[in-house]
Amino acid sequence: MKNQEIAEIFTRMADILEFKGENAFKVNAYRKAARVLTDLTADIEDLYNNKQLGEIPGIGQALQGKIEDYLLHNRISQYDALLNDIPKELFSLLSIPNFGPRTAALAYQKLGVQTLADLEKVIQNGDLVKLPGMGEKKVDKIHRGLELIKVSQTRISIAVAQSIIDQVISWLGEKAGTQITRITAAGSARRGKETVHGIDILAETPDGAAVLQLFTQMPNVTEITGAGDTKASVILENRYQVDLRAIPAASYGAALQYFTGSQAHNIKLRGIARDRGLKINEYGIFNEHGKIGGEQEEDIYRLLGMPWIEPELREDRGEIEAALQNRLPHLVTLDDIKADLHIHSTYSDGQLSVAEMAETIRSLGYQYMAFCDHSRSAFYANGLDENRLLQQLEEIRRLNERYSDFAILAGTETDILPDGSLDFPDHILKKLDFVIASIHSAFETDPTGRTIAAMKNPYVDVIGHPTGRLISRREGFALDIDRVIAVAAETGTALEINSYWDRLDLSDLHVKRAIEQGVKICINTDSHQAAHLTMMEFGVATARRGWAECKDIINTLPLEQFRARQKRNR
Ligand SMILES: [Zn+2]
Ligand SMILES: [Zn+2]
Repeated sequence: MKNQEIAEIFTRMADILEFKGENAFKVNAYRKAARVLTDLTADIEDLYNNKQLGEIPGIGQALQGKIEDYLLHNRISQYDALLNDIPKELFSLLSIPNFGPRTAALAYQKLGVQTLADLEKVIQNGDLVKLPGMGEKKVDKIHRGLELIKVSQTRISIAVAQSIIDQVISWLGEKAGTQITRITAAGSARRGKETVHGIDILAETPDGAAVLQLFTQMPNVTEITGAGDTKASVILENRYQVDLRAIPAASYGAALQYFTGSQAHNIKLRGIARDRGLKINEYGIFNEHGKIGGEQEEDIYRLLGMPWIEPELREDRGEIEAALQNRLPHLVTLDDIKADLHIHSTYSDGQLSVAEMAETIRSLGYQYMAFCDHSRSAFYANGLDENRLLQQLEEIRRLNERYSDFAILAGTETDILPDGSLDFPDHILKKLDFVIASIHSAFETDPTGRTIAAMKNPYVDVIGHPTGRLISRREGFALDIDRVIAVAAETGTALEINSYWDRLDLSDLHVKRAIEQGVKICINTDSHQAAHLTMMEFGVATARRGWAECKDIINTLPLEQFRARQKRNR
């Protein structure tokens, strides 16, 4: 979807105009349009193709022209023009809290601040604090913001990281052949974190120099930032850095353990090792006589008196204590998932027909699925009214007759309206097999009360993307998650892990809190096209990071048991 790309450009245009001291009315028009595009769930390209751009509230003719410009030429010419005469790293500078376009303009004009490094310098040499309107306190806040930005700038979404990792591993697999005997991504990617701080890949090889050299010759490398005997670092076309470490077989397990982290997990392990008179590092595990293990990751854990710990748990959230007492959870796996229960079709804003989507999902090996298209209040997503919903229900019933090994549930993703009611009355919901209720608008209007009201409806099975967050774009709405979890437990309503890469909502920590209260989770992809279906892996990773087992996830159940535990059937 181009929605977000265009929203980003509009935000930048607003920033530049404000930086240049243009009038507030113009600036605000761009900011508002960016917000509208971000909240829009319909694909802007579809709206454009259907000549519906004019129907989006808050986007006037001039802005429509720019959207068209982007959709047709992949650029907005006014934006390109605005990019002249601005500091080199303006957008990075502006992402610092308390450092808005006006402050940036002042720092640029008076002190020549063009980059984050320039800013750091004028903070340190005391020039910034002398500018009009500054002061120790404000400079201090900017300084702390700057430190945060330096860290967050290098964070990558797990979906992007995973695709880069897959590319690197498959390219090396092809070129290096038998020179590489084991290869794994380490770091936060291996731990399944929603965003990843740098990509770190380990290769077991007897000929490190040759493998590292091959790595630096990958076709999409634009810069080699380091190349030694044991490690090489490159920058790819997409500006991301990837490190490859060449490790001999004898220490591969120890290196994998060490570089997977987290730091907190490893610090605690080192403490345990010390207490036992042992030492662990990236080369192995040692006692006073020398090395006693390190070829396998399991060696490290076993010699510390515990079973191997799944990477997703390694956050020092109680996993080491659990391992020592032999009560680690048996984490849910991708293979356990029997159904994807949040799928959109062309009835609302999906790209494939009901029949095409069902066949695709069946071919992935699932046993059942549910169509949950949008309801009428989601007009921007072509939401269904009662008639169209019943028409879809009919089509699904007919389609089901084709299959003996696969079942299609007829559902809805009904909007939770500002007053907490749903888009369909109970007698309609009752006809469906499955109901997800989600908040898509009026985020400020009592999201907790509305979510609770929806959970009290006997036909609502799942609350979709419960907090509404969009990773690094929009914070979740102000939801009292503990109250929501309590009522979910009381009513037997499941909470969703929406696997869409920029949602991952619930987050890992929320999942842990929910299942500790006995709340069930439903992991869905919210797919609008076939390519989205594979995002299930990120939802499962999030569940695993939240310590979820098979029994915590309703869509691991065979269909019959799934039906038996639905609220309406109990
Ligand atoms: Zn939704
Ligand atoms: Zn959806």
